[in-house]
Formats: sequence, C-alpha cells, structure tokens
Amino acid sequence: MSNITVCARFRPLSSKERSNHGDSVCIHGIDNESFIFKDDKEENFKFGFDRVFYEKSEQAEVFEFLALPIVRDAFNGMNGTVITYGQTGAGKTFSMEVEIYMEKVRDLFDLSRDNIQIKESRVQGILLSGVTEIYVFNSAEALQSLASGISNRAVGETQMNMASSRSHCIYIFTVQQELTKEKRVKAGKLLLVDLAGSEKAEKTGAEGKVLEEAKTINKSLSALGNVISALTCGSPGKAFHIPYRDSKLTRILQDALGGNSRTALLCCCSPSTSNSAESLSTLRFGTRAK
Ligand code: ADP
Ligand code: MG
Repeated sequence: MSNITVCARFRPLSSKERSNHGDSVCIHGIDNESFIFKDDKEENFKFGFDRVFYEKSEQAEVFEFLALPIVRDAFNGMNGTVITYGQTGAGKTFSMEVEIYMEKVRDLFDLSRDNIQIKESRVQGILLSGVTEIYVFNSAEALQSLASGISNRAVGETQMNMASSRSHCIYIFTVQQELTKEKRVKAGKLLLVDLAGSEKAEKTGAEGKVLEEAKTINKSLSALGNVISALTCGSPGKAFHIPYRDSKLTRILQDALGGNSRTALLCCCSPSTSNSAESLSTLRFGTRAK
C-alpha cells in the first residue's frame, strides 16, 4: 500500500562492535533500495525497501525522505505516523530526534508561511505523563515544550527505574489552522513513535518483572506488526478487520495508521555480524509491512 513507506537504516559500527568483532558487517551488495544480508550461518538474503540508509547517510536525508511528506500532510489536515523499530542500540532514538529535527521543523513553518497561517498548534506531551497537553503558538514554543517532554521522559524513567529502551515513546503533534474564510478549523495529527527495543527477552537474560515487561513489549510490537500487515493486505473499499484493539500501542495509533493516514516505518539495524539475528528479525518485520 502506497500509504506505508518502509525504510531500513544501518548505523555505523559502534566502537564496542569494532573492538570485539573487527570490521565484519552483515551487509554487502548495497544500493539505495536493496542489499544482501548474510546471517550467522553465512546464508544470504536479499532485502528491498523503499529506501535504505547506510552509515554515511545524513540525518537530513532520512528526514526528507521519511518525515517531510508526513509533516506536510499534517499541515494539510491529514494524520500521519513515523515509527522507528529495532533492537536497543540500533539507532531508533538517534533517527527519531532527526525526525523531530528542530531546524527543519522551523524551516517548514517558515516555508508554509505564505499560504498557511498557523494560528495555533497543539503539542500533546509524552505518553508517560499521559495528560500533558501544551498549547503553543509558534515553532519556538513547540520545540521548547518538546524539549521539556523529552526531559520529562528521562525523569519519569528514572522514577520508574526503567530504561528508555523498555518503553515506547510517542510524541503527538496536533496542527490546527483556523481557516478564516471557510470558518472552520483544519486539524492534522503527526505521531512520532520511538518504539521500545525489539530484542528477544531471552537474550537479555531477563527475569521476574523485567521479563514480564519484555513480554508485554514484544506483544505490543507484534500487535503493531499485525495491524500494519493487515493494512497492507486489505484491498481498497473492502471492509477488513484491523486488530487495533490488541494493544494500547495500536489503539493510540489507530487514527493515524490506515485510512488516509500516511505511515513511515524506519527499521533500524546494527551492521555488525554479532547482531545479525536481531537485525534479520527487524528487517523481516519491515518486510511484513510492505
Ligand atoms: P536505540 O534508540 O535504538 O536504542 P540509539 O538511537 O540510542 O539506539 O543509538 C545507539 C547509539 O548509536 C547512540 O550512541 C547513537 O548516538 C549511535 N548511533 C545510532 N545511529 C547512528 C548513526 N546513524 N550515526 C552515528 N551514530 C549513531
Ligand atoms: Mg532509544
């Protein structure tokens, strides 16, 4: 379905990966839309996506391809979602803070100024506090409240003794414009979803509460996968059951996934052979969404 864009991004090798495993990377034969992935049994898989970003890709490039069309839609009264998926340490948050990409958002506000008068945009805060809703009247205020949302996230996590990798983080922006001539308000919603790490719980040696937490996360991630693949499989005009109600995550995303909404999924991966099992599972999640 053309409303879903699926991309993959490989970050550079980390210094830890480099020192433990040298330069061994699990991808070769790379181009803009595909690559060959070698798993730990030396088996090769060819993957294709709408776009693949590698270690040299700039944040701006990722932003422009993935997020900009969705940001534009939000200003046109449509809903959209940008999702980063992948194991902990794969580059989800790094990429998402691009998506938020302070300078670009501001540029975009300027860009649209000649035809769109932004009277009011509403930024709803982070999921952890749940009820935070901040009204802002310009991009500087929006970014300021976003920054406080991000630091609130960190504070909340410390209080709950929770690592950011163990929670989903959703930033919801509602863009409202008063169309004076037509006497109505046009509203679009932009959701930025920085998912919890997708790694298998067993691998992390989790027990007790942490294991339960991990199972809940894995359940919500597979619910998300099911929703996205149901959206992808459904034929237009035909009623199709989309299992939004299977997790809180998919319920929150319900009105910004499917329908006229545009979705971008960025599958973040380590390029190291030492992480190939997790990367393969991330890439397969992405493939299911196409
Ligand atoms: P995640 O949110 O998926 O757990 P992070 O975004 O925190 O992972 O990234 C893990 C580390 O890798 C961070 O130190 C981050 O700065 C670095 N990193 C991730 N992606 C890139 C990239 N494309 N280029 C350079 N460094 C990156
Ligand atoms: Mg993160």
